[in-house]
Amino acid sequence: MALLEVKNLRTYFFTDDGVAKSVDDVSYTVNRKETLGVVGESGCGKSVTALSIMRLIPMPPGRIVGGEILFDGVDLLKLPEDDMRAIRGNKIGMIFQEPMTSLNPVFTVGNQIEESILLHQKVSKEEAKNRAIEMLRKVGIPAPEQRYKEYPHQLSGGMRQRVMIAIALSCNPSVLIADEPTTALDVTVQAQILELINELQQTLGMGVILITHDLGVIAETADRVAVMYASHIVEYSAVNEIYFNPLHPYTVGLLGSIPKLHIESDRLMTIEGTVPVPTAYPVGCNFASRCPYATPTCLAEEPALKEVETGHFVACHHWDEVKVRRPEHLVEAN
Ligand code: SF4
Repeated sequence: MALLEVKNLRTYFFTDDGVAKSVDDVSYTVNRKETLGVVGESGCGKSVTALSIMRLIPMPPGRIVGGEILFDGVDLLKLPEDDMRAIRGNKIGMIFQEPMTSLNPVFTVGNQIEESILLHQKVSKEEAKNRAIEMLRKVGIPAPEQRYKEYPHQLSGGMRQRVMIAIALSCNPSVLIADEPTTALDVTVQAQILELINELQQTLGMGVILITHDLGVIAETADRVAVMYASHIVEYSAVNEIYFNPLHPYTVGLLGSIPKLHIESDRLMTIEGTVPVPTAYPVGCNFASRCPYATPTCLAEEPALKEVETGHFVACHHWDEVKVRRPEHLVEAN
């Protein structure tokens, strides 16, 4: 049984401009010790899916209108809020995008880790303090006893992100959701943070959902990948399949936009146009206005996500055409 299973999730926002279908029929699974990469442009529904799992969607205007989120076989969407509170931050941890806004500036980092431990575990203040210092050590913060007493503004961006990881991991969660955990950091710190998450994952046996817009990060860390576009998963497969055998035109476009040092030339591919707004998705395929492979069928019928090769799911009417016509240098180079 999968550790976490999102099934046919629909999360909508009821706004003055209409109903924004931010997550529409999204399904994915996460297993123990596995990293599921969720990739796509801003606004495609990656983070809203994660917040739905945590049941942190602001209601109103948001509402989870359909689907199931099974964690250890229990549907989180049916749990009373008190039971959910015991899971959130405890069995399922989350690292948010912006460490500076997620940490409270008026409390020391030690206090903030301790608070999370005391909220979920039956331990004394002294034990919580020791564990907080231990977590700071585990996430690679030098002189943790000293850092424990410091405030967020006294730490660098990389250190603050490590503190966020320490908080998320302080209760040994089974699932860690990392939402763009390295976006605000420079590349060397970025690599350290990803390596750290990977190491801790192996030691603690967690399943990780890594949300990012960066396919380079996914290549380094994920076992399987869900590519999201305009509230849907459009391609879902093992990471190698996504890189060596992309079957959705959007994935092909994303791969074409990654710089490759060993390829002479040439301009990076761009995906022309913009993502449609979720209050006004077109009839048919949401990607049609940007897709070089679009046909009249695409404008009339929405493609369903189907398994077209073993373990490889795609939502595209013409994936077989894409396979033949996609730029081969992308596939060979990745
Ligand atoms: Fe492009 Fe049509 Fe496939 Fe949509 S269904 S991605 S428009 S080819």
